[in-house]
Amino acid sequence: MAQPDSIESYFAPAVRELAPYEPPDWEGLAWRAGLDVARLVRLDANESPYPLSPRAVEALARFDGYGYYPDYRELEGAVARYAGVGPENVVLGNGGDEIIDLAVRLFVPPGGAAVVCPPAFSMYAVSLAAHGRRALAVPRRDDWMPDVERIEALVTGEGARLLFLTSPGNPDGQPVPLETIRRLLALPAVVLVDEAYVEFGGESAVPLQEGHPNLVVLRTFSKWAAMAGLRLGYALVSPAVAAAMHRLRPPYNVNAAAVVAALATLADLDHARATVGAIVSERERLGAALSALPGVAVLPGAANFFLCRLEGRRGSEVAEALARRGVLVRSFGRPDGTAGEELAGGPSLHDAIRVTIGRPDQNDAFLAALAACLHLPGPALSAPAGGARARQGEARRRTRETDVAITLALDGTGRYDVDTGVGFLDHMLAQVAAHGLLDLTVRARGDLEVDAHHTVEDVAIVLGQALDGALGDRRGLVRMGHAYAPLDEALARVIVDLGGRPYAVVDARFDGAHLGTMDADLVVHFFETLAAHGRLGLHAHLLAGRNDHHRAEALFKALGRALDAASRLDPRRQGIPSTKGAL
Ligand code: PMP
Repeated sequence: MAQPDSIESYFAPAVRELAPYEPPDWEGLAWRAGLDVARLVRLDANESPYPLSPRAVEALARFDGYGYYPDYRELEGAVARYAGVGPENVVLGNGGDEIIDLAVRLFVPPGGAAVVCPPAFSMYAVSLAAHGRRALAVPRRDDWMPDVERIEALVTGEGARLLFLTSPGNPDGQPVPLETIRRLLALPAVVLVDEAYVEFGGESAVPLQEGHPNLVVLRTFSKWAAMAGLRLGYALVSPAVAAAMHRLRPPYNVNAAAVVAALATLADLDHARATVGAIVSERERLGAALSALPGVAVLPGAANFFLCRLEGRRGSEVAEALARRGVLVRSFGRPDGTAGEELAGGPSLHDAIRVTIGRPDQNDAFLAALAACLHLPGPALSAPAGGARARQGEARRRTRETDVAITLALDGTGRYDVDTGVGFLDHMLAQVAAHGLLDLTVRARGDLEVDAHHTVEDVAIVLGQALDGALGDRRGLVRMGHAYAPLDEALARVIVDLGGRPYAVVDARFDGAHLGTMDADLVVHFFETLAAHGRLGLHAHLLAGRNDHHRAEALFKALGRALDAASRLDPRRQGIPSTKGAL
């Protein structure tokens, strides 16, 4: 028998129809925006803007078992404790995506159907198509809720075996009430409740598992745990479903690094709670700022993103314009107005963008870019006080000893997010931000197994560089500022000159050798290094004090206040703040 003439003719019919998933071309986007890839503001994929738990980073660095196939028992137990179920209820997957795939293969026979409620996460339909199963669309109502009556009719009429719900929903962020889920669980079908975003809000359906073996809850470490790149999701299911999924999944579907990182993350939930808390509080701030923009309507939601409607605009055009400014958001459908890869139906998304909630600096960049794209005056929150240039700086320095990244906005509100691995230094940097009204993020990883010296020194270097960047050409500055800061019996005075000549006079003595885990003499070294790299004239004096912690804290508070005073813009000082005409 003659062979068919193309290899494609050997492909299973379902696969021939599939469109490839094409991730964004980061390099190309960055090039068009005139930026380095690292400076793209990536708010398009609902990833965490914060780094992995430092404990997870350490655990990965220490792990030496990559040569062996991983064992999942410990992680299944830890996930079970985290989710409030038993280990027999947990199935790990290579991302939540694999759980979707397992559910499709387990519950829907070839040629059979599952119900998807568009607008919905595209993987449901992709997975169904890839396995030759049909997606029956029951578009969501205008209030984003599933259309329960139509789902009931379709499940009974067409014998659909699986129903996909997302709570909070993507791209809308709306939680599905437990009452609705309970009602749908009475159907002769399996209900998969996708809780990829539940850590950010909404109520989990897990308590409904009691008495409902047809409930599958999907979760992921991608969003709240900042592990999207490590690919770890899981299903919470009845023991019988777990046993069947274990039969279906490849024996080592989750990689060893994801196991190590997840175990450490679950042992360090304070870190995750802090980052989720930061995102949730930014959700309020960003939501308010977006709503204040004319022509922008924000759908309040419970996830780590917002759906925004842009009156009279196509979402894809605005997303494109934002991308040209280096800010990436998600839009739906193509620029020509035709539908994209999502199943059609439900509330229209042609005028919408979905924006992931990022760090404060990223959200400000998005707000400013959006206002510019919509030809609006800059939003109140991100408008730099002193004219067109946002007075922001960022710097990164990687050596064999440390890796330090800092972003700093001079016209901030004192928000800080600081993690250097040196607790006392974190506490001091928080003082500088809060008292200097700087928005400050600091991420540092250093060779603390040696001691804190390199980390403290390099944080001072990078903070100086970021400050120097934020000050720009230093035009219009008040230039000199000073502050006294008391802390109970301790009193410090710091005088700052932003004239560009690095010089430091630091007079601070401590009775003890240590402040937390750092040597006390590093305080003086920090001030001197900051002065050198920030091009500051700095006179810092400890005037009184008995308690070393108070003494140091008073110094850093005074530094923040003096920086605030000196870095303000004075409209009467238009030029370079020097009689020499140069700094
Ligand atoms: N469900 C929903 C609703 C999602 O938005 C995503 C990720 N975009 C996932 C599941 C899957 O995430 P992952 O495969 O990274 O776990």
